[in-house]
Amino acid sequence: MASIPARAFRTIGKFSLATMIGMGLVAGDALAQQATPSPGSAKAMFGAVTLPTQGPPQSIGFYAKGCLAGAVALPADGPTWQAMRLSRNRRWGRPETIGLLERLSRDAARNDGWPGLLVGDISQPRGGPMFNGHASHQIGLDADIWLTPMPRHRMTAEEREALPFTTMLAKDRFLTINDKVWTPAHARLLMRAASYPEVERIFVNPAIKKKMCDTWTGDRTNLGKLRPEYGHDSHFHIRIRCPAGSVGCTPQAPVAAGDGCDKTLAWWFGPEPWAKPKPSTKPPVKPREVMVSDLPKTCQAVLAAPPVASARAATFGARDAGPTVETDAMPASGNTPPSRIPQQ
Ligand SMILES: [Zn+2]
Repeated sequence: MASIPARAFRTIGKFSLATMIGMGLVAGDALAQQATPSPGSAKAMFGAVTLPTQGPPQSIGFYAKGCLAGAVALPADGPTWQAMRLSRNRRWGRPETIGLLERLSRDAARNDGWPGLLVGDISQPRGGPMFNGHASHQIGLDADIWLTPMPRHRMTAEEREALPFTTMLAKDRFLTINDKVWTPAHARLLMRAASYPEVERIFVNPAIKKKMCDTWTGDRTNLGKLRPEYGHDSHFHIRIRCPAGSVGCTPQAPVAAGDGCDKTLAWWFGPEPWAKPKPSTKPPVKPREVMVSDLPKTCQAVLAAPPVASARAATFGARDAGPTVETDAMPASGNTPPSRIPQQ
């Protein structure tokens, strides 16, 4: 990677670098942020459901346009993980996803010097679009993992709401890793996650990708799975491919061959990704909200299907999970008003 071209800095002008990089969040995962979805919109409908459907797991549609049947929940706690922001009720996914997260947490604790995972959003109980925070995560095959190692103690539900994110980026420098927070264990964790064949992509901040390109001396076969993306500087995002035989799950094109430490990465360090959109002469068009009818047809049936008996009954490996904090933190029943869902 060449160093950052001077024109990138000129484009940035008076804006602080941190602001610019923060603005990247708006363009990335947080694109779907909006105040209150209209009643009847897909966000409102899927956001109001508190329990998954019964029956076998089914990912319907695409990562950014679909829904999920037969989801299971990641237990709020395991020996090597803790689920975060429990009030969001977004720790639902396909069993393959949940199983992989648990495995990653164990493997990383055993081999990589990473004491455990703090797991962020996976999917809603029936997938679908969310009130805030993500364009994807709709079919139970995406999961966010914090780049903060799990603390030794089991956090209370309140601590899990309040723990702030820690960015890996240096404050006053453009797309540069802060070596005071970044460690070799972070790099090992990312490559561990990329090592599983079922993991198709991992989204990270371009600065993290560059750091990996510059410093990873091990096997680089899976480095190409790390994809530079806006945001993703305090968490990374694991995307699992459609499991074999999952009819109705729309696959994404495989990543290009190679380690991705090339001009596609260099592009992020130029002005183009950070340029403000040109002012238009036309009045701004408000994007139309996604309605349930815009999703694959089966998603209407998923919304209408009877729920499982309880969240506990649909928790992955619930029999061995032991006591957890989830009973206090899970919404008991009915709608979760948007005001209770913390903004990212
Ligand atoms: Zn994500």
